[in-house]
Amino acid sequence: MNEAMISVEEARARILDAISRLPPETKPLEDALGQVLAEDVSSPLTIPPRDNTSMDGYAVRAADTEDSSQASPRELRVIGEVAAGYTYDGELQPGSAVRIMTGAPIPAGADAVVPFEETDEEPGRAFGAFAKGRDHVGVFKTARPGANVRRAGEDVQAGSLVLSAGAQLGAAQLGVLASVGKRTVSVYRRPIVAVLSTGDELLGLDQPYEHGKIYDSNAASIAALISEAGGIPLRLGIARDTVEDLTAKLRHGLGADLLVTSAGVSRGDYDVVKDVLEREGEVDFWTVRMRPGKPLAFGAFPAPDGRRVPHIGLPGNPVSSMVTFELFGRAAIFKLMGKTSWERQTLRVTVEDRVVNDDGRRFLARAIVRQRDGRYFASLTGSQSSGVLTSMALANALVVCPEDVPALESGQEADAIMLGPVTND
Ligand code: AMP
Ligand code: MG
Repeated sequence: MNEAMISVEEARARILDAISRLPPETKPLEDALGQVLAEDVSSPLTIPPRDNTSMDGYAVRAADTEDSSQASPRELRVIGEVAAGYTYDGELQPGSAVRIMTGAPIPAGADAVVPFEETDEEPGRAFGAFAKGRDHVGVFKTARPGANVRRAGEDVQAGSLVLSAGAQLGAAQLGVLASVGKRTVSVYRRPIVAVLSTGDELLGLDQPYEHGKIYDSNAASIAALISEAGGIPLRLGIARDTVEDLTAKLRHGLGADLLVTSAGVSRGDYDVVKDVLEREGEVDFWTVRMRPGKPLAFGAFPAPDGRRVPHIGLPGNPVSSMVTFELFGRAAIFKLMGKTSWERQTLRVTVEDRVVNDDGRRFLARAIVRQRDGRYFASLTGSQSSGVLTSMALANALVVCPEDVPALESGQEADAIMLGPVTND
């Protein structure tokens, strides 16, 4: 067994080195939110397909509106009406106008659109009003050529690349793919991540409370972090501290892309987890120079199909297990999904409480970051004991106190790793 004290960066680099992105899958666009595109996508279409109007109004020849004003409007003959989705087939002759609705193609011969507000048309007439209404319109303002006209292809030219492989699919990217008519996409598969809690003291939520036992909270928070990162959690339940039970439960996870266990990795612990990991797979136990979360195991299990399933063994304390997952598990899931950056946003904050860091490790303090007068302030959310999960529930950030800094004084600046949005209250 190889046990050495390593930095957060080194632990992360070792884990990421041992993990590669999963193969792509093809799926309907509506199921691909958050996934990473595995193909370049070019558009077969020009968007918009034709010049069209950005306003409701009248399509005109700009030259016909010269010198018009409210006092002396230019009168144009209205020869028709066109709505989005239809075309006006005739051609505009000098002195005429076509009533037009936003998105409708500009009729041949027209080169500008005068909005209703700049004409003598009374407000509130619906589409179809032309048929019953007047056949002339008075224009109050000179239109320049191209006014209120959206050019064909101003968004996308047929044949051009709209998104490259590696793009992460958020709302705008999915919209762009839909706009070019893409119904299915090739994206890197989401990892299935097996979660196993270990410990004789643990109760599942389906069990009645027993004095002296504790409910398994790690499975709940780690499965949630897996989902948030984009993975699919596979809950394996609770393994008792026996070689047989642990081995049996772990076997159920060998179809997954990543195994995450919690507890049983600290020195001096009842060493069943260590025994099983060393016997079944290859594993390193590390002490990472961080707090909370010093002990960490990382290795791989041989699966029946010949794969080696990477395994991250988180510490048992609820906060330690969340914080180590945050730094290592989340990055591993991102890499499996084909993402190339896995840093959370960090903000430069002014700390409002003294943060003491007495053991030469990187201290990640649970804090709430607020914005006031354009600056960010961080205050601690309570006890920093690694068993106090409620102070994690109040936090939206981890304030970083570096290894070589014995204390952050109130008023001093520090980096905060943002776990959620900044608050204003
Ligand atoms: P261990 O790493 O097994 O020594 O566990 C460290 C501490 O974390 C102990 O106090 C355990 O009771 C606690 N712990 C371990 N697993 C869980 C869990 N799944 N949920 C809540 N607490 C846990
Ligand atoms: Mg234990």
